[in-house]
Amino acid sequence: MSTYRDFTQRGTARAGVLRTAGTRERRSHLSAPRVPTVGIDIGGTKVMAGVVDADGVILERIRTETPDKSKSPKVVEDTICELVLDLSDRHDVHAVGIGAAGWVDAHRATVLFAPHLAWRNEPLRDALTARLAVPVLVDNDANTAAWAEWRFGAGRGEDHLVMITLGTGIGGAILEDGRVKRGKYGVAGEFGHMQVVPGGHRCPCGNRGCWEQYSSGNALVREARELAAADSPVAYGIIDRVGGNVRDITGPLITELAREGDAMCVELLQDIGQWLGVGIANLAAALDPSCFVIGGGVSAADDLLIAPARDAFRRHLTGRGYRPEARIAKAQLGPEAGMVGAADLARLVARRFRRTNRRRVERHERYERYAQALRNPGSARPTQEPPAS
Ligand SMILES: [Zn+2]
Repeated sequence: MSTYRDFTQRGTARAGVLRTAGTRERRSHLSAPRVPTVGIDIGGTKVMAGVVDADGVILERIRTETPDKSKSPKVVEDTICELVLDLSDRHDVHAVGIGAAGWVDAHRATVLFAPHLAWRNEPLRDALTARLAVPVLVDNDANTAAWAEWRFGAGRGEDHLVMITLGTGIGGAILEDGRVKRGKYGVAGEFGHMQVVPGGHRCPCGNRGCWEQYSSGNALVREARELAAADSPVAYGIIDRVGGNVRDITGPLITELAREGDAMCVELLQDIGQWLGVGIANLAAALDPSCFVIGGGVSAADDLLIAPARDAFRRHLTGRGYRPEARIAKAQLGPEAGMVGAADLARLVARRFRRTNRRRVERHERYERYAQALRNPGSARPTQEPPAS
């Protein structure tokens, strides 16, 4: 016999299921409306905005400079609104997704902290929803990039995927069963700050020996500049190329020289790749995904980076020889991944918006038809009463 206690507990469990169902992405992309949405990627230097269709195709893209850190949060909001309004002149915008370089809370409403911007506990979603009058979603840029690779890129068909973005630092994201794992507070996936070398290089985060100090664009450039500044014979090639200006050494230049066969540049990319493989082996021990997708600017070095990473991964994987190995794949969508993923995630909230508003919209349209008929007395008399307001 069921008691009141059973009843209320069942009720609570059901409410819990409904709450998760409201925010879950699992398979929901299959039933999301096939409408174009806007994706915005806010990086350290550039803000990129684009209209993306349901197949991940970019219909139009525009970009502008990221407002300086000293500018108020309002200035960044203005920048976003300008980009969306510009695009909405030429496209129907049904929802806006934002991928921001920073920490976003688990409700995907508030930016807790962004290193390149003045955002501190910034309620970005609600502020922009009010200004743009369309549903807005805010997420971490690594999460949106991982979502894009899973939907349209190198991670298609994988149900356990980890994305690693090698840019100036390391960004990361975890996808399981078609859902981004954000952690309890929204900041999961900060792989770059796992300590790999006790007492190692100082990291801007305040600790020493973080993974991104050994495997990132910054690490690559730091090592090359160190060798060039010491006038090492192995660095003569790159010193020549920059005319002796060590500060002109950049990641893309190192990759270019490595492709031309410069021994030092090949070696530096190998080092970065090996550290990448060590970190991936650690992540495999903790998360055991079926696929690692490597994205970000440094991944442009292709096999010069990824082949050494695969070697080191195999040498450091715990239980090697006795377990299936994850695939390591290069990301396919390039620098637009974050923008495409943000737009695609926004499509999910577009559906929720449409559902809650459909009735109101239909009522309004019925009323408009009725009013139109009244204005044109020559045409047929309205057959339908106006809806009660
Ligand atoms: Zn760190």
